[in-house]
Amino acid sequence: MENLVNDKIPFNRIFPMLEARLEELGAPLPSVSIIAAEDNDPYRILTSTIISLRTRDAVTLAASRRLFASFPDMASLAAADTEAIEEAIKPAGFYRRKALQLKEIATIIESRYGGRVPDDEEALKSLPGVGIKTASLVLNLSYGIDAICVDCHVHQIANRLGWVSTSSPEETERELRKILPRQYWIPINEMLVRYGQHICLPLSPLCSSCPMEGECPKKGVGSCR
Ligand code: SF4
Repeated sequence: MENLVNDKIPFNRIFPMLEARLEELGAPLPSVSIIAAEDNDPYRILTSTIISLRTRDAVTLAASRRLFASFPDMASLAAADTEAIEEAIKPAGFYRRKALQLKEIATIIESRYGGRVPDDEEALKSLPGVGIKTASLVLNLSYGIDAICVDCHVHQIANRLGWVSTSSPEETERELRKILPRQYWIPINEMLVRYGQHICLPLSPLCSSCPMEGECPKKGVGSCR
C-alpha cells in the first residue's frame, strides 16, 4: 500500500478514482460550477460565489439567476437599490448583508476597475468580504488562472486523507501549494466539494462506499458509515 503521508501522494491515481465514484452516483456539480459552465463571465462567478456562502446549491442557483435577470452586469448592480438586490437573492443565507456587500463591490469595481472584475488575487481580496476562497474561485473559473480554492470540504477531506495536517483552510491552501501538482489546482475544488457533499460527508462520511477506504487514514473522523 502506498503511504499517503509523504511527498509522493499518487494524485494522478486518486483524482480519477474519486471522480469515477462521483460519476457513478450521478452527483450534481456545485452551483457556481453550473453557472461557470454556462458562462464564465467574471461578474456572474463573483456574485454567485458570494451568494453561495452558507447557502444550499439549489437556493444559490435560483437566487443567482434572479440577480442576473434583474442586474445583468456590474454597472446595473452598482446602480441598484439594496432592497431590490435583497429581493432578488433571498432566501440565500444572510441575504441582507450579502445585498449590501454586492452593491459595495459593484460600486468599487465600477469606479476603480472600469467595471471589470480584476484578475489579480490581491485586488480581489481588497474587495469587501472577499477572501482567498472567493478570489481563488474567480481566478479559476473566470480567468483560468491556477489557484487552489480551499473551502470547508477541501480543508476537511485533505486532512482526512492525510495530505495535509492543518487547522484552517488558509493553512491548507498554503500546504497544498507545496504538494499538489499544478494540473490539479483548479479541479480540486469542484471535485472535493462534490465529494464532501455526497460521500465524504462532514459529520459521518460514507467510508464503506468510498474507493479510498482501506488506504485513507481517516484523520479526525469520529464515526463513519
Ligand atoms: S475513506 Fe472515508 S474519510 Fe477517507 S476519503 Fe473516503 S469517505 Fe472520506
